[in-house]
Amino acid sequence: MVWTDHRVDELKKLWNEGKTASQIADELGDVTRNAVIGKAHRLGLSSRPSPIKRKTFVLPTTNERMCQWPIGDPGETGFHFCDHVASAGRPYCHDHCVQAYRRKSESAA
Ligand SMILES: [Zn+2]
Repeated sequence: MVWTDHRVDELKKLWNEGKTASQIADELGDVTRNAVIGKAHRLGLSSRPSPIKRKTFVLPTTNERMCQWPIGDPGETGFHFCDHVASAGRPYCHDHCVQAYRRKSESAA
């Protein structure tokens, strides 16, 4: 198993979403839970709040989600998702909602 930039980005993203090491290992595939923990530690990601603390902390903003707009080419180095807060009820932040809407109306025209 090789930690490509894309996989490292995925690891960071899932880790920041509060996924457990075994959930992340499942999503990435071809990697063990221990490898995920080791890599996260080397990346300095191990200091996230515990799931219990996080739950309490996040409660007032339950609906707050991150924008899922992909930035760059999934096959290339540097690919990641937009890290802005998504608009309520939308998968994207305000700017990317505007872009998504434009794309749709262009393809429909
Ligand atoms: Zn966005």
